Amino acid sequence: MPKKPSELEEEYMVRMEYEKRKKLEEEKHRQLAGEEKKRLKELHHMRCPKCGMELIEIEYKKIKVDKCSECEGIWLDAGELHAITKLERTGLDRLFEVFRKQD
Ligand SMILES: [Zn+2]
Repeated sequence: MPKKPSELEEEYMVRMEYEKRKKLEEEKHRQLAGEEKKRLKELHHMRCPKCGMELIEIEYKKIKVDKCSECEGIWLDAGELHAITKLERTGLDRLFEVFRKQD
């Protein structure tokens, strides 16, 4: 039995309502992801990715290098590894000399 135009209209309205609510829920999910990202950033900013202790940032020849205050791991931001490879050998030695342990 073919559907009456009023039935088709009702189906259409319900589908539209569903789509509208689905979009609202999807937006909520996106916001949640954003807040979670923000929370994680606050939690991890300037913390060592390995041991979680504070990083100490030094700047040498416009390259910022983060060194862990605990495990002594050295971390670089995007592009800094490339910048370091452009340093001359003596520049590279001097950079690491900054971190050398004082005896
Ligand atoms: Zn560490």
